[in-house]
Amino acid sequence: MAFLCIVCNSDRSTIHTMKDAKAGDLILIACCQNCGLVQLKDVPNELDLFDFYKSKYRLEYKKQDRPSPKHVYRAGAQAISRLKKIAPFIRENTKLLDIGSGGGEFTYLASCMGADASGIDPSSGYLEFGKNHYSINVEQRQISQLEGTQSYQIVTMFHVLEHLPNPLKVIRKVHQILKVGGLFVIEVPNLESKATSPFNHFFKAHICYFTSLSLIGLLKDNFSIEYIENNDVIFLVCRKAIGKIFKIPNNRDSKAVRLAESRLKHKRLPEYIMNGGLLKGFKKIPAAFQERYFSYGKQPKRILDLLLMRYNQL
Ligand SMILES: [Zn+2]
Repeated sequence: MAFLCIVCNSDRSTIHTMKDAKAGDLILIACCQNCGLVQLKDVPNELDLFDFYKSKYRLEYKKQDRPSPKHVYRAGAQAISRLKKIAPFIRENTKLLDIGSGGGEFTYLASCMGADASGIDPSSGYLEFGKNHYSINVEQRQISQLEGTQSYQIVTMFHVLEHLPNPLKVIRKVHQILKVGGLFVIEVPNLESKATSPFNHFFKAHICYFTSLSLIGLLKDNFSIEYIENNDVIFLVCRKAIGKIFKIPNNRDSKAVRLAESRLKHKRLPEYIMNGGLLKGFKKIPAAFQERYFSYGKQPKRILDLLLMRYNQL
């Protein structure tokens, strides 16, 4: 069957063979020659995916169905660093929705900073964990099941968009539930990064592989880009533009195509080594000790409260 881009429907693409970082088998990746989005060639359907994320994903990818203290610490520290970047926009009772709330660390910490925060996630075990330990408002729902219009001032999605089979539909839904002027905060793995391992980038669970250009291309017609960090990951904050109607973006972008093709060509071992890749493993050792030391024997809520206290003292 001919390949059609999941965003712009173009049938022009190049196909690249990559190795799945978990299972080790080969996967086919397509690079759309119209919009530059790099994507898995054979995309599973939405319902099968939701089922997979409900129970199997965490077990297969993390070997656990709820986070360990070490992972609570790691996710908590990440949540604090993300919250730091959007803290100026959080006021008392700012309505915030975290899509893909996982173990609930971000939702809980955002609530501690004053937001009226809630989350959705497909994973049963992680959701229960968050509810039980932090008493947060999280639900098992698909993005398409979100109702209402202009309900939130901030919507966040950290490492979620790359897992979804129809990114444009998701962005349209976020546009619907955000208030005009509201913020959409996204973090995704970065195909442009030269310092992240090429052996830890291509997964069957990742349907899209973004560059800064292909991500901006998806957003620019309906949001104004406020802030972007283009490093190991892409961290992007954009604001819902005035005008209630969602415009279908014109995704034709030859620059984005060239960038994506060049990244698929160069994201290989030599580039990784040249950019300090071999030292990266060693650099992680102190952090791993700290995670273990800080979280050992502590209740999840205590771990997050201590992290927040540390942040507030800085
Ligand atoms: Zn396309």
